[in-house]
Amino acid sequence: MHEMSLTESVVRILEGEAARHGFSRVKLVRLEIGELSHVDPESILFCFGAVAGRSPLTSGAEMKIVRAPGQAHCLDCGDTVPLADRLAPCPRCGGARLVITGGEEMRVKEMEVE
Ligand SMILES: [Zn+2]
Repeated sequence: MHEMSLTESVVRILEGEAARHGFSRVKLVRLEIGELSHVDPESILFCFGAVAGRSPLTSGAEMKIVRAPGQAHCLDCGDTVPLADRLAPCPRCGGARLVITGGEEMRVKEMEVE
């Protein structure tokens, strides 16, 4: 399952941060998922619930998902435009030559630790 391995990679990131900054427990993690990414936030939450208990670091931790809006640069009108769907045309000029510049990534945005 795609989301399961992504969730495990998030836990590994948290473990890396814990080693670097010397905290022992994550209380809350805010995960940013771009609206244009192929990641399903509900599945991530579900997987995190299953994975978090395996490590004392994340046991009992809460996860919150933050959506990052999609953004693209239009090669036709030269504008940077908001984009809700990666297959949608430019909302300004209707052009199809869009280069996606935001909303594709998934990253740990913030966390509360102790
Ligand atoms: Zn355009």
